[in-house]
Amino acid sequence: MARNFSKKEINFSFLKKYGNFSLLSYLIENKRVQENFENITEVILNSEISAINTKFGTPAKYDAIIALKQGYISAKNGLLSAAFENSRFFLERLSLLKIISCMDMEYNPYEQAIINRDWHVLIDNKFTIYSITQFTGRLNHYFGKNFMARSSSIYSTGIPLCGIHSKHFKNYSYPINEIEKDYAITINEKCAKCEKKATRFVISLPKAGAIIGLLGYYTGADTRDLGKIYADYSRVLHPYGFYSYSEENVFNLWSLDIIRLVHLINKIVF
Ligand SMILES: [Zn+2]
Repeated sequence: MARNFSKKEINFSFLKKYGNFSLLSYLIENKRVQENFENITEVILNSEISAINTKFGTPAKYDAIIALKQGYISAKNGLLSAAFENSRFFLERLSLLKIISCMDMEYNPYEQAIINRDWHVLIDNKFTIYSITQFTGRLNHYFGKNFMARSSSIYSTGIPLCGIHSKHFKNYSYPINEIEKDYAITINEKCAKCEKKATRFVISLPKAGAIIGLLGYYTGADTRDLGKIYADYSRVLHPYGFYSYSEENVFNLWSLDIIRLVHLINKIVF
């Protein structure tokens, strides 16, 4: 993956031939992608890396870039599971980068949880958003329907806690009275742990499925196709593995799939 590219070189029209392409059925039926996309894959990946670098400022972007590179190397070497694991990570991380940028916060708790490696700590404490309806349900409750969550209101999708129970999560929480002031509303919540008056919301972090839902929420795009692709990647890793798929056929399959993914997600993210 070395050479320079020009945007004009990238033409996705050949994807039309693969309109019904389903990764999972190729894998289950052990079907081979005949065409070799090596040159166009290099051009598209380089272009994608440069677009990510230009659009996003957060250091969390580098993981998305490395996932593309490692996916490419894995596919080249016939490592199917590793290749698609990187595709899944790329989809998840690029979606998250877009969500973070749409949230419009100088200090973004999602971003900080990634950078500080605290994400798992919050999840382990059950500060988790499992679905987009859980996220929007909490917003509807405080702000009414069709509210677009930005800045401090995002914390209200988290868990209300008292001063004592929120004290370990200062970096990932926000005072309820500040949200009340910011939005001229009243919030009466009890601490989820001890029933005393809650004083802060601790942010809840989205599970992978909810990340794709959030991407749709923030961009207004239909993300069902991305959801299906994500589900296919998950089936590669669990429960099938697909280790019997022929190594020399991995690269063509992976590259067709990543090109299709980039084409779909770019319409939403850039
Ligand atoms: Zn408490």
